[in-house]
Amino acid sequence: ASTRLVALLGYPVEHSLSPLMQNAAFTNAGLDLVYLAFAVTPADLPAALAGLKAMGFLGANVTVPHKEAVIKYLDAVDPTAARIGAVNTIVNEGGRLTGYNTDASGFLRSLQEAGFDPAGKKAVILGAGGAARAVAFALAGAGCATLTIANRTVERAGHLAAALTGLGVPVRACTLQEEELRPRLEGADLVVNATSAGMAPMVGAVPLPAAWLNAGQWVYDLVYNPLETKLLREARQRGCHVVSGLGMLLYQGTAAFTLWTGKPAPAEIMGQALRKALQASQVA
Ligand code: NDP
Repeated sequence: ASTRLVALLGYPVEHSLSPLMQNAAFTNAGLDLVYLAFAVTPADLPAALAGLKAMGFLGANVTVPHKEAVIKYLDAVDPTAARIGAVNTIVNEGGRLTGYNTDASGFLRSLQEAGFDPAGKKAVILGAGGAARAVAFALAGAGCATLTIANRTVERAGHLAAALTGLGVPVRACTLQEEELRPRLEGADLVVNATSAGMAPMVGAVPLPAAWLNAGQWVYDLVYNPLETKLLREARQRGCHVVSGLGMLLYQGTAAFTLWTGKPAPAEIMGQALRKALQASQVA
């Protein structure tokens, strides 16, 4: 009866690896907690949040399509998450729901761990959705020299660029078209794919041709399934440093674990659970 629940609220949620990763962590830490995914439609989101309070959930993760919409239903929002405009983690303290964003810190931690320090560097972000927002704020906060937001729908890139003004980093928005994007890529130190191009089952898709990349550049792909996307494989073959989105998935999860439990997360165990599941899905 003392078991407490942590929810994942998304739509759809059935392919999420978070239940596997967080339950492995709870078991390893000897905590009487269970992580469970719930498919919640946008219309049901307020009721689901009221349910978290009513049933004494310890907290929740929030994923597509709720990361932005959830904010207006929370009792408090951490300042960083408020600035980003997206929440992926909720902590329930006695019926008071506070929202956090661990995607941004998870991205930054995995990038730094791979050996890239964004300070003073020129970065190009492909995509302008929720993930791109977290990445853009993380890079601006880490002292990038310039940012380019390149998106298929240029209006969305413009909105994100506008949201980033005032942070002291020059930001430009453009499309993914060669004549606009290639000049921006020429001088870039880091290229981040925050589009969903390349995510299983669309494993053949790339957000840009690898021929536009230069040896020595860093290429980070938020897509983590497959573990090595077509973009990363081609970038690696061209002599780029490549980083997979698995680290971001892991470190947004370790940060969320600590927010819920107040304890350091068993990152090793969580990473193993993720790699095992992804390798199994790629053999199949
Ligand atoms: P959104 O739906 O909010 O945004 C999707 C983005 O991808 C938009 O910029 C969209 O462009 C673009 N896009 C989609 N298909 C294509 C295509 N074929 N060619 C070019 N651009 C395309 O999704 P999220 O921002 O939440 O997620 C983006 C990706 O990042 C997903 O694959 C997700 O799994 C991954 N992710 C990984 C995380 C991790 O921990 N590693 C964390 C969060 C997300 P447009 O605006 O023109 O539609």
